[in-house]
This record gives sequence, structure tokens and C-alpha cells, in this order.
Amino acid sequence: MTTKPKNFILFGYPGAGKSTQVDLLREAGVDFSLISIGKLLREMAKRDDSLGQKIGQTMASGELLDEFLIEGLVKDVLRDTDKTKMILFDGYPRTLTQIRGMEQFCEEYGLEPPTLLCLKITKEEAIKRLSDRRVCSKCRNNFAYSKLEDKEKCPDCGGELIQRDDDKPSAIETRFDLFDLQLGVILQHFQSIGRYIEIDGMGTEEEVHGRLLRAIGS
Ligand code: AMP
Repeated sequence: MTTKPKNFILFGYPGAGKSTQVDLLREAGVDFSLISIGKLLREMAKRDDSLGQKIGQTMASGELLDEFLIEGLVKDVLRDTDKTKMILFDGYPRTLTQIRGMEQFCEEYGLEPPTLLCLKITKEEAIKRLSDRRVCSKCRNNFAYSKLEDKEKCPDCGGELIQRDDDKPSAIETRFDLFDLQLGVILQHFQSIGRYIEIDGMGTEEEVHGRLLRAIGS
């Protein structure tokens, strides 16, 4: 009997370093399919139509997008995802409705139900990191503003560096309030089914990377 690949959900406060850790896993040669809902939504928000506008406005406010849209998006993405290797979900599920949707998709495709990996940092640290984050408007890479020599241009491609609307102070507050609300429900669910691993997200990127590798068993 062949064993199914394990699947994981990367979870944590905005700014906990999820994207950085995903990049470090890739660099370390861990083979996985990534489903990043936030990244897909940011791509869709660039579209010059009413849906693109609606997504952009909702994201800028820090609110969650409607369940119907997210379900359709995940369905489309999962259909085209290589399911023979580990799947890493980033930013999904965030609500009980989405957890139920995910359970259905897993059953449909015969996937191993994912384990929640929760990257924990203090609220103060997350606010500090988010306020310092800038993104390139061209290549979409993230940078720490305080460490940049040229504060205006992307060191990778020369594109204009901007602050994400949802990284601005008013939206950070909303995102945190929402996260605290969501966290309770989601943590409780995954703890109750015994699929929950807490990872200390404080410390250097490499330290957190080591903890993450141990958690996924690579
Ligand atoms: P993220 O990059 O994962 O922090 O997501 C950025 C924004 O995208 C969030 O603040 C939400 O507006 C939206 N978003 C991302 N994932 C979801 C989801 N699973 N359900 C609803 N909205 C989402």
C-alpha cells in the first residue's frame, strides 16, 4: 500500500513570516505544491473589471472576501494542482465554512487531511514587521524597508517599492482583530482532531526554518 503525501496549512498572524518560510522550504529542496490564496487574490485584484476592483477594495480594508468566491477559487486551483506531492495551503482555510469546504475537497480527491502549522509570534513583533514591509510593484518580492539602501527602488528589478494597503496602520488593526477571531475557531478545530502543530516564529528566519522542517518531517 502506498502512503499518501502529508498536507499542511501554514497559519499565523499576518507578518509571521509565512512567505519567507515558503521560500526557504523551496530553497532547501522540499518538494511541494503551494496554494496561496492571498497571492492569487492579489493577482486577480490587478484585473481591470468590477471583480478585480471588488477584490482590491476588500483586501485593502483587511476584511475577508466572500465564501463563494474563495470556494470557487480553491476548486479551480486544486483541479490544476499536482496532488501526488505534499500540498501546502497558505491563507486557507480561514473560517469554519472554508474548513468544511476543504474537508470536502480532500475527500473528493482522496487527499490526506492537512495538519495546521501555526507560526506564533507576538502581536508587537507582527506589527513591527508589517509596518516595515514593502513590496515591489513589478516583481512582487517583499523587502524590509529598514534594511534597504535605496528606499524607493526594488533591489531585484528596479521596480517601484510600495506599502501594501493592508499593511497600513488602519488595516493592520482590522486584520489583527479578524485574526484573533478566526484563530480561536480554527485552532480549536485542528486541536480537537489532533492535527495541530505550534511553531515558535520568533528568532531568526533560519531558526524558524529549522523548526518548520522538523514539524513537516523533512
Ligand atoms: P494574506 O496575504 O494571506 O494575508 O491575505 C491578504 C488578504 O486577502 C486578506 O486580508 C483577505 O482580504 C484576503 N484573503 C486571503 N485569504 C483569504 C481567505 N481564505 N478567505 C477570505 N479572504 C482571504
